[in-house]
Amino acid sequence: AAKESGKNSWRFYKKSMQQDACENMSIQHNLRYAIERGELALHYQPIVSLPDRDIISFEALLRWTSPEHGAVPPDRFIKLAEQSDLIHLLGRWVLREACKFARTMTDLGLGQISVSVNISPCQLEARDFVSLVRRSIETAAIQPSQLELEVTENVLIHSMEDSIRKLQELKVYGVRLSLDDFGVGYSSLTYLKNLPVKKLKIDKSFIDKILSDDAQFAGAIIHMAHSLGLVVVAEGVETEQQAAELFKYRCDYIQGYLLSRPVPWEQAIDLLIAFRREAPLLKLHCRQ
Ligand code: C2E
Ligand code: MG
Ligand code: MG
Ligand code: MG
Repeated sequence: AAKESGKNSWRFYKKSMQQDACENMSIQHNLRYAIERGELALHYQPIVSLPDRDIISFEALLRWTSPEHGAVPPDRFIKLAEQSDLIHLLGRWVLREACKFARTMTDLGLGQISVSVNISPCQLEARDFVSLVRRSIETAAIQPSQLELEVTENVLIHSMEDSIRKLQELKVYGVRLSLDDFGVGYSSLTYLKNLPVKKLKIDKSFIDKILSDDAQFAGAIIHMAHSLGLVVVAEGVETEQQAAELFKYRCDYIQGYLLSRPVPWEQAIDLLIAFRREAPLLKLHCRQ
């Protein structure tokens, strides 16, 4: 019986690998038409200051609802897009939409709130990346400082010098840069030294542990970032206790479900207006 079940599980394993490969191919195929079919959307998640909780920016997060595959998580379809030229198609669309959103906020008199966009390493490697970013900004007629690009240290794995040069060029142009998912992967101080970033985003895994014995990691990262002249965003903040702890560590900004999930642009605008209205009350509350 043992032998039989062993055989069966081997067969299931083999079948599921084939299914996976098939599904991946189907996702890649359908993703190619997702833009023209209007299946993509950008959702926006607020990033707020501590302790005032003013919304200082929104992070744009890509959503895809496929008639065939349903809501596919971005971690999954972006990895597949990165394996082909599709990432460039998606990346262009995301940049254009995000800049349009920044423009909308300014048009509505909500001030120059910035929007951050995640950039894959292969996007940065494209020869025309810098001009693509400039064009997106100019087309939407926004200030370069209203756009922030989030990169991970993975941008340094291939063509390190080329990527750093492009980021430098964008920085001079006025675009803001931040280092995403800090603390996971190979994070080393060399990366921080080489990348022209002003902001560091601490990965959610450290925030999850902030109330446990591992708490000192988040605190140490914040302290180190500050001594290097960087500002810090904590990602994935879900509870008031975590926010309070982060404030104790002098964390500059927080982002997470505690404040809001990523939402469509209309709701993001409503959030901005609601937070502005509530801000004086919150400040009063904090002082007590
Ligand atoms: P990321 O850039 O680190 O984005 C943060 C992720 O954490 C988002 O997942 C967000 O929805 C989620 N998140 C935020 N607050 C909380 C929280 O309090 N609790 C929990 N459990 N999760 C929270 P999402 O939207 O699924 O995106 C996953 C990743 O996909 C992103 O990680 C980013 O690396 C990538 N991604 C998303 N949109 C784009 C895009 O337009 N371009 C590129 N290249 N990558 C993207
Ligand atoms: Mg990000
Ligand atoms: Mg992140
Ligand atoms: Mg991430």
